Amino acid sequence: MQKSFNLRMAIDGALRALIVEIEEYFLKKMLNIFQLLRKKAYLYSGGAKNMRKRSNLLRTLHALNNRMVLNDDLLWDIEHYELGYEYECKTDVQFGKGNWFIIKGLSLTERNEFLVQMDLIVLTGDKILLYELKAYTKRVNDCRDGTIEYKEGGRRYTHPLNQLSKAYGILESLLIKLGIPLEIESYVLLTHPKSYIYNLPAWTDKVLIQSEIEDHIEEQMRKRQPPTRETQIYWEKLKALHFDTSEYNSKVPKYSYEKLGKLVKCPNCFGVIREIPKGYRKMNCPCCSNKISVVDIAKLAYEDYILLFDEKPSAAKLYN
Ligand SMILES: [Zn+2]
Repeated sequence: MQKSFNLRMAIDGALRALIVEIEEYFLKKMLNIFQLLRKKAYLYSGGAKNMRKRSNLLRTLHALNNRMVLNDDLLWDIEHYELGYEYECKTDVQFGKGNWFIIKGLSLTERNEFLVQMDLIVLTGDKILLYELKAYTKRVNDCRDGTIEYKEGGRRYTHPLNQLSKAYGILESLLIKLGIPLEIESYVLLTHPKSYIYNLPAWTDKVLIQSEIEDHIEEQMRKRQPPTRETQIYWEKLKALHFDTSEYNSKVPKYSYEKLGKLVKCPNCFGVIREIPKGYRKMNCPCCSNKISVVDIAKLAYEDYILLFDEKPSAAKLYN
């Protein structure tokens, strides 16, 4: 009798220990899964939550840069677009405090033809605010012929006010098509503290310099009606139209997989990584010397491949 009692005690004890072990095991597993999910959510959102994405064109140019020789014009474009992107993100933060719905970088394409990119759209209860964002760092002159000149005697571009009125026209007809009964108010925001357009016609009050943006947002927050359930439906309808393609840009040079070679680049500085040390989860980038995760490198290579070739790559293509 005593013997079997001891046996039962022993089995009981062993079972209890096993249960504790199983619980610990599942707890650990759950924690791992949780951490993995959190990491994934971070990666797929492209960094911080709700952060605007670089355009397909900019991402394509980054993917090509260092894998092939790009001309100076394109290198200048990359630098220029990257700076624009940085200041767009800063402006997003400023607008983020308002009680309204925001669409960042709405790209509209029709039959693979690029129509327009609307940098920032704010949907309020009574109006839609449309913004064209520009981050000029050098002297910009209004040529009064629908173009601006970047630096004296430098490149000419479509005037941001002309870009804005084109976007306005397209958005206006879209609103009619979608049955959205809101008026549009539109502005050009010069987002970089150094940005200024010289020789602007005196009649326009549609171009705001960086130091005026904060006041403009405050004013809109006071004047605009808060969003309603309808506003949210309009926001979803407009967002669903987004279609970004890099094909519209004739600037993107011709390339092939053979010409590009290895697709492995640093997710931080976009420098080429020629070798990944075996068995390590992190490594130092040879270009920017930041510690980078091998998973992030693989993920960027994978995304770049899809971006450049519009198909999923085989492992051999990524790593050989
Ligand atoms: Zn790097």
